[in-house]
Amino acid sequence: MKRVIERAHVTKTGAILLGDNVACDAFEATRPLRVVTHAHADHLGGLRKSVKCCEKVLMTPATRDLAETLNDNLKLRGEKIKTLQYGKTIKYGDEKITLHKADHILGAAQVLVEDAGGIRIAYSGDFRVENTPVVDCDVLVVEATYGKPSCRRNFEVDVKELLVSMVERRLRGGTVYLFGFHGKLQEVMQTLRQSDVEVPFVMPERVYEVSKVCEKHGMNLGCMSLSTSKEGQELLEGNLPCVAFYHVNQRQHVGLRNARICVSGWEFQTACRQIGDREYLVALSDHSDFDGLIEYVRRSKAKQVITDNYRSQGNVLAGEIVKRLGISAVPMPRGKGQTTL
Ligand SMILES: [Zn+2]
Repeated sequence: MKRVIERAHVTKTGAILLGDNVACDAFEATRPLRVVTHAHADHLGGLRKSVKCCEKVLMTPATRDLAETLNDNLKLRGEKIKTLQYGKTIKYGDEKITLHKADHILGAAQVLVEDAGGIRIAYSGDFRVENTPVVDCDVLVVEATYGKPSCRRNFEVDVKELLVSMVERRLRGGTVYLFGFHGKLQEVMQTLRQSDVEVPFVMPERVYEVSKVCEKHGMNLGCMSLSTSKEGQELLEGNLPCVAFYHVNQRQHVGLRNARICVSGWEFQTACRQIGDREYLVALSDHSDFDGLIEYVRRSKAKQVITDNYRSQGNVLAGEIVKRLGISAVPMPRGKGQTTL
């Protein structure tokens, strides 16, 4: 067991170390390979430094495009950048590295390192269990965003169907404003299009650019206009039937007199809740809830689990894995708001 547990580690700066050569999602000077699991900011730590100092920086092509779009002046085109499709393996020394799909945002990946002794060391990255293939492994580093037993979404309705019907109903009164994070906004756009919502989508420049990257990588988002363009302004100022997509940080600034819907993962009581005069919160998440995390760990058949205690509070999840599954589990890094196991 000792040999197995030493094969993975989470550093105090949030680097997920797998095997001998790989550091995921933060810069680590001792590792020649950096992997970027997806384009969210808390997984891009020290990326410029990694590009400078590491031998190779690995990610999916979609993550490369998204990370560049979301970060001004970040260039991921040099010879050190190696884009890798899901399921393709590269070798480094005695180790094999493979990225597997994670259902989270466009381009998101899980990472599997197989060492010379055949030990399989995996990192889930951020994921939703429903459409994420479970990676069989000996050692697993797992995200812990909703790692407390209170973080369960046992809703009786299909959240996406509910969201579509809410948007359709409110479009009869004019423009509907929809707020969320990058990546999730585009998932909502795709869900609406798949449900035959055909009104124009209007959005500011950054949301538009992210949406174009999503279309380049296979999503179909239909008619989109910039909020600063002539058509976009006509739609918004005329309160015409369209959906306006904004990053959640614009919530206090736009669409204050319109129907408004925010999508958020931090809601467990009900699938939909009124939070303002014409404003609703819909519980749409791109992470597994507590039950999903436990289910993933169980199906991975890992003998040793490390919970990510850098990006979230992994101590509770580690304790629950020990208790419910009888699998050895520890939070890393140690010493961040944790209880003794
Ligand atoms: Zn994420």
